[in-house]
Amino acid sequence: VIAQGTPDRAVVTTCAYCGVGCSFRAEMKGDRLVRMVPWKEGKANRGHSCVKGRFAWGYVHHPDRILTPMIRERIDQPWREVNWDEALGFAAARLNAIKDTHGVDAIGGITSSRCTNEETFLVQKMIRTVFGNNNVDTCARVCHAPTGYGLKTTLGTSAGTQDFDSVEQADVILVIGANPTDGHPVFASRLKKRLRAGARLIVADPRRIDLVRGPHLRATHHLPLRPGTNVALLTAMAHVIVTEGLTDTTFIAERCEADAYAEWAAFVALDHLGPEATEGVTGVPAQQVRAAARLYATGGNAAIYYGLGVTEHSQGSTTVMAIANLAMATGNIGRPGVGVNPLRGQNNVQGACDMGSFPHEFPGYRHVGDTSTRTMLESAWGVPLSAEPGLRLPNMLDAACDGSFRGIYIQGEDIAQSDPNTAHVTAALKAMDLVVVHDLFLNETASYAHVFLPGSSFLEKDGTFTNAERRINRVRRAMAPRAGLADWQVTQGLANAMGAGWTYGHPEEIMAEIAAVTPAFAGVSYDLLDRQGSVQWPCNAAAPEGTPVMHADGFVRGKGLFVITDYVATEERTGPRFPLLLTTGRILSQYNVGAQTRRTANCAWHGEDRLEIHPHDAEQRGIDEADLVKLTSRTGETTLRATLSERVAPGVVYTTFHHPDTQANVVTTDNADWATSCPEYKVTAVQVGLANGP
Ligand code: SF4
Repeated sequence: VIAQGTPDRAVVTTCAYCGVGCSFRAEMKGDRLVRMVPWKEGKANRGHSCVKGRFAWGYVHHPDRILTPMIRERIDQPWREVNWDEALGFAAARLNAIKDTHGVDAIGGITSSRCTNEETFLVQKMIRTVFGNNNVDTCARVCHAPTGYGLKTTLGTSAGTQDFDSVEQADVILVIGANPTDGHPVFASRLKKRLRAGARLIVADPRRIDLVRGPHLRATHHLPLRPGTNVALLTAMAHVIVTEGLTDTTFIAERCEADAYAEWAAFVALDHLGPEATEGVTGVPAQQVRAAARLYATGGNAAIYYGLGVTEHSQGSTTVMAIANLAMATGNIGRPGVGVNPLRGQNNVQGACDMGSFPHEFPGYRHVGDTSTRTMLESAWGVPLSAEPGLRLPNMLDAACDGSFRGIYIQGEDIAQSDPNTAHVTAALKAMDLVVVHDLFLNETASYAHVFLPGSSFLEKDGTFTNAERRINRVRRAMAPRAGLADWQVTQGLANAMGAGWTYGHPEEIMAEIAAVTPAFAGVSYDLLDRQGSVQWPCNAAAPEGTPVMHADGFVRGKGLFVITDYVATEERTGPRFPLLLTTGRILSQYNVGAQTRRTANCAWHGEDRLEIHPHDAEQRGIDEADLVKLTSRTGETTLRATLSERVAPGVVYTTFHHPDTQANVVTTDNADWATSCPEYKVTAVQVGLANGP
């Protein structure tokens, strides 16, 4: 499927995998991609790339791609190929019928973090203006929704504070709940370069990830905490910083709310929250916690990078706020080399959130109850808008099982594989009158769909992605949409079939509308992106060339808000039946549920998900390397091969979730973050035994 020979043209575009957002030249021969060459001018990657962006693009031409729309009356019937008009008309008629019969709240949709800003903006606009409700959600619900909540509450905006360049000025780097080597490889290279130049590293992670002791580097401190105890650990670090007088009193006095700080400082100073008192909770020796806290507070510029090991917990939002508290208490925010930096997972999860993919927020993180924003949007869009927050995805699924939610449009998201408690997700999908899946492949979710709308890959469309540092990068069309329509055209077609009268002719017009209704994007245009290469929001009259470092002169919310972060143990407990804790993560060569990477040569590096288990735990169960084992939780069971590894501590097991035959999420639970419903993927009590054992 790979074109051979000399390319006849090249298009500069953006990688469609992770939140680093590397720029590439897509070198084409006719309508075939010859190779992806990392682009030296790309500000996120500066000519570097990883094994996914550089090589894992064969899925674009893969024979599994569905290129013709399909419909069926019932999910037990075979698919019937139809043209675009019939498919969109079928979906529109059913959605309208559900609205008429069951009310406007009975339908909703999911935007895709794999799609462009322009495409996600259109999906949420369709739901708000045509469906008539705020029942819109996105994959951030299962990954970084706590980042949105936690950073907006403490700092005032739902995004990381720094650009990637900032790491080059960090003296101390705290990596918590992230494995950049596998998850964000190009940024990891920049981080390691800084470590080799002398910066010191603290890693807080249950696993001994590469950064702890990899080639040519060694973390100054590894805090191998028990899964689920982030808040206890971070509060213990805050205890040390406050009680040993290591706070930045000038920063706090000038930049933060005084009363909230005083309450927080009194709280974290309590004896029972210190490292010694919480050693039994976190499992981390108190002296290590003290040493790490002292280094973070006094070692110079200190930057925090975190990932899903922070957010995917029942206290995910609390943990994000605990991180922001640490940064504010030590004055490590608002200048290069410091900050609070979520390593966003998907290529455009930041953008999907920015574009209003949450049921409570319009584009630009403005609450749907905010009258002035709603009035402005009603004027721009010409229809009344609901002031009531809509349903989150888990609530849509619950309501489907109750019979009150009947139809869903899902763009670029395989919720039957990626969301927790698979049995509950599939029961909800089966209960609906209409499931519309808009995707590249017949994924697991499509097994329960009535309409399949073929999606277009990143090479087939124009638009923008926003990476983890708020950088808006251009995505440029290198080839015609293989199914005939780009994703934004499909959404426009569905909206129009339901009665809208949209006339967008190109994604540039959609970006102009985004800029017109979203203050942080007011200065963004394709002209600017072509001139500058990329831009970091906010980009407007106050910052016409964008904003690499946020909160430099003051927090977006005015003064920084310290929030009391009380540790509450997860409800997921180990016991005699389920004595081990399972945590999950990704591997370098594969991506999420593997829909794309599994259809590339990258499978040569990782052909199956395996269960990492400590040799001590394996021996107790008679398990040898590569044995097939059964992984059981209170929710379900699956089988996979074992890998004996001291990367995990005794009592902890770990797996990836890239292959559908493993179905790691059949064992994960319904436990979720208290504020955002983000699932607690990182803590599941399990038992492991030989698959052919008793
Ligand atoms: Fe793509 Fe991320 Fe790899 Fe860059 S680091 S090439 S954005 S997968």
